[in-house]
Amino acid sequence: MAEAANRADVAIIGGGAIGLAIGYGLKRHGLDVAILDAGEPRPRASRGNFGLVWVQGKGAKNPAYARWSRAAALAWPALADELRDETGIEVDLRQGGGFYLCLSEADFAARIATFTRMREDLDGDYPFEALDRAALADRMPAVGPDVVGGTFHPDDGDINPLKMCRALQSAFLKRGGRLYPGRAVDGIVPLSGGGFRLSGGGRTIEAGKVVIAAGLGCRDLAPMVGLAAPVTPQRGQLLISSRVLPFLDFPTAHIRQTAEGTVQIGDTKEDVGFDTGTTLTAITAMAQRAIRMFPVLAGVSVVRAWSCLRILTPDIAPIYSQSDSCPGAYVAACHSGITLGSLHAGVLARWIADGSEPFANFEVFHGKRFPVPPPAAGA
Ligand SMILES: Cc1cc2nc3c(=O)[nH]c(=O)nc-3n(C[C@H](O)[C@H](O)[C@H](O)COP(=O)(O)OP(=O)(O)OC[C@H]3O[C@@H](n4cnc5c(N)ncnc54)[C@H](O)[C@@H]3O)c2cc1C
Repeated sequence: MAEAANRADVAIIGGGAIGLAIGYGLKRHGLDVAILDAGEPRPRASRGNFGLVWVQGKGAKNPAYARWSRAAALAWPALADELRDETGIEVDLRQGGGFYLCLSEADFAARIATFTRMREDLDGDYPFEALDRAALADRMPAVGPDVVGGTFHPDDGDINPLKMCRALQSAFLKRGGRLYPGRAVDGIVPLSGGGFRLSGGGRTIEAGKVVIAAGLGCRDLAPMVGLAAPVTPQRGQLLISSRVLPFLDFPTAHIRQTAEGTVQIGDTKEDVGFDTGTTLTAITAMAQRAIRMFPVLAGVSVVRAWSCLRILTPDIAPIYSQSDSCPGAYVAACHSGITLGSLHAGVLARWIADGSEPFANFEVFHGKRFPVPPPAAGA
């Protein structure tokens, strides 16, 4: 019989943005929750991302994902207030809208066409604006002459993702959640009387439910409970500058000024497996693009460059699944785990706690929409 410390109502594998948000949400439902996190050297997207709470362009071919992203953005202010009240931590949420800047007429026209089609798919409820250079310069005087136009979505914004994770972790712990760092799970076994035994590093824990929220680790863990999470890595490189006087009141898709005054510049989309290096070619290209967008950046020093790995599903939309063969086992994996954090702590956690689906046809996000990968050769 496992000791009380080794039991929980729900065990969450992974203590990144998704595991912490779900964990905090489940604590709001009064459940006994344990989060097990492997830590280094596994990739941790939550610590290296761009920090946008972003709606525009999300779900361009998937109205359910577009609605989900917008609902998340709209739910963020309440969560930010709640986290401040519970923990005293300010997550630096700024939501006065955001811009995507176009350096070519072709890009500008393509975005307008995409967003116009999205507005039709969403029954007219997609409030974007397309702004020519002059209109953009009215709202962002620092914009450079090479920018031909841009799109604006009023629900876009940004956040400090590190403070977000710290606040979620602090709120989770304050409500009695248990966090076990350095606990890499390598086995999940369904128990005959219900529930699961998780093992790793010579230790075990038993739980009534298990939530796999292990980022890129979901791919290997999900099949242990009859689930599929065919996520793959995509590298993004980013830059951060020294502090500069405020010049940018809005986040843009590639450049944002943080609350501290630094300028964050991103990012690349590279298919390089699990390589988390940086390259001079990408750093140079990002810096040059940033200067074309905002010439004021020409004299600013870059103080750090890094990369981290996106967690991409084959269609970019999230995977939220409960196992048919092992009820009580869930997987949650997505790109945009910062944007979607408010719903992960809210309606997604409620779904796991009591089964109420966040919306009709929530199955649209089930991982079974993807074909089961063939077994490895020789298996
Ligand atoms: C360059 C870049 C820019 C991005 N920009 C944005 C953005 O602007 N806005 C946005 O919304 N999203 C953005 N994202 C995406 C966002 O960062 C991710 O969706 C989010 O961080 C995913 O959180 P996660 O908890 O699933 O994964 P992670 O942060 O990777 O956490 C997973 C955790 O699981 C643990 N783990 C793995 N395997 C095991 C195991 N076997 N046992 C125990 N623990 C395990 C790991 O140690 C890790 O701590 C960006 C990502 C990248 C790479």
